[in-house]
Amino acid sequence: MERTGIPSTILNWISGTEVGTAAGEIFAKVSPVSGKVLASVARSRAADVEQAVEAARRAQKGWAERTPVERGDLLLTITQAMRRNQEQIAAIVAAETGMSVKQARGETGGAIAQGEFMAGEGRRLYGRTTTSAVPNKYAMTVRHPLGVGGLIIAANTPIANVAWKVFPALVCGNAAVLKAAEDTPATAWIFGKLAHEVGLPPGVLNIIQGYGEEAGAPLVAHPGVDVISFTGSSAVGRQIARVAGERLARVSLELGGKNPLVVCDDADLENSARWVLLSAFSNAGQRCAAGSRIIIFDGVYDRFRDMLVERTKRLRVGPGDDDDFGPVINEEQLTNMVAAVERAREKGAVVLAGGHRFTESAHAQGFYMAPTLVENVGPQDEISTSELFGPVTCLYRVKDFAEALSLANDSPYGLTACIHTRSIHRAMEFAQKVQTGVAVVNAGTYGSEPHMPFGGLKQSGNGWREPGTEALDIYSNLKDIYITIDPGML
Ligand code: NAD
Repeated sequence: MERTGIPSTILNWISGTEVGTAAGEIFAKVSPVSGKVLASVARSRAADVEQAVEAARRAQKGWAERTPVERGDLLLTITQAMRRNQEQIAAIVAAETGMSVKQARGETGGAIAQGEFMAGEGRRLYGRTTTSAVPNKYAMTVRHPLGVGGLIIAANTPIANVAWKVFPALVCGNAAVLKAAEDTPATAWIFGKLAHEVGLPPGVLNIIQGYGEEAGAPLVAHPGVDVISFTGSSAVGRQIARVAGERLARVSLELGGKNPLVVCDDADLENSARWVLLSAFSNAGQRCAAGSRIIIFDGVYDRFRDMLVERTKRLRVGPGDDDDFGPVINEEQLTNMVAAVERAREKGAVVLAGGHRFTESAHAQGFYMAPTLVENVGPQDEISTSELFGPVTCLYRVKDFAEALSLANDSPYGLTACIHTRSIHRAMEFAQKVQTGVAVVNAGTYGSEPHMPFGGLKQSGNGWREPGTEALDIYSNLKDIYITIDPGML
């Protein structure tokens, strides 16, 4: 605790102050590396959400009256504070997720870049000016904030997830209530601390700790919340859409994926193998954009499978900078994954590597899953259609490009996809026809940049995109303004 500065009790941030919950309840945040308690955390419920939403509503008017440039400048000072404290943020992210400090440092750098990009939007926040059918009439659009944003995030890349939502929500002039992920409370807490230290007005950003059903659900249902922005599983997203839809609140959903990576017979197999392993296993596979369906041309299947098996068995799993990936976020997720692989095995799947928890002494206390490669599964099998969110990937054999594309698209999800080929014809045909929000050639299924819109089709989302300037559309309303002049009045 001393090393990272995580407080022994993590409270909510309401109106710029750290406060406990109305009922005084707490829950334990456990380290995925040691299984030991890292901190006690405020277990918020509806009464605490109420307090946070009220604080946000009170603060929002004054915040919206500041110019967008001023708001952007203040957000920039938050990113500067993040940069000054990058090592501490990275240490906290590493302590609560189990990822290495090196990886956490990189993720924090990404969150800072996100903040810098959005702070710059304070100087743009473009509307449009256009033509009119009527003489002497001028037509334009301007952006207005919605009011209060309810921001709900997952734990997988915790500081990036905070940045993706808070910066665009605030630059547009909204106040926000962020519901931190229960598995990464301290990352949200340190962000709140830094933001208030550099002068974010009290109440503009409130942070609620707690579980989804207890703290997230009341936020979604609250009539004082004008827009819900959610990053998490498709099952919870569907529930949120139902509740928010009932009161016609705007809701942006960034959900799960089952992302295909196609390896053609003309691919550079060395490069493909490197990217398959990164896509499937980096961050312990806990990415919405993880490569979990590896589709391989028959002509290179056996050779490529052997390359993958050999390299997967050499991966180092642990919390250090020299390791390839760390533990998964909690024991429940680990247990579910092992059970899903077991069910696939019973149906005839062949587990080429992994498929089990690491239990020997170095890993015994943590939530470590061996990197897992599975083959001989059908496209409609549970393991092919449900997101596991861990270091598990399946291999599929196809005869040609048409079958690869068809299998890539045969999924309830449509987030990201990747193809490895030397042919520009195959690459472009795939990029055009794959049913996803992101298509990548000759790299990984992940790796989106802060200035680009990210989001998916089908059960991966509901059409909104964040980040990029497109995120501004989630957090602002457009107003049309018409001005008519009378040249006779000159
Ligand atoms: P989850 O849906 O269980 O939880 C996500 C967040 O929602 C948590 O903060 C949780 O407390 C909250 N929540 C849970 N139930 C709720 C409810 N009824 N009402 C309101 N809030 C509720 O997801 P998870 O397992 O923590 O995260 C993994 C999922 O997130 C995966 O499906 C992954 O693909 C997805 N994800 C998507 C993106 C993206 O940009 N598309 C990015 C990261 C993660």
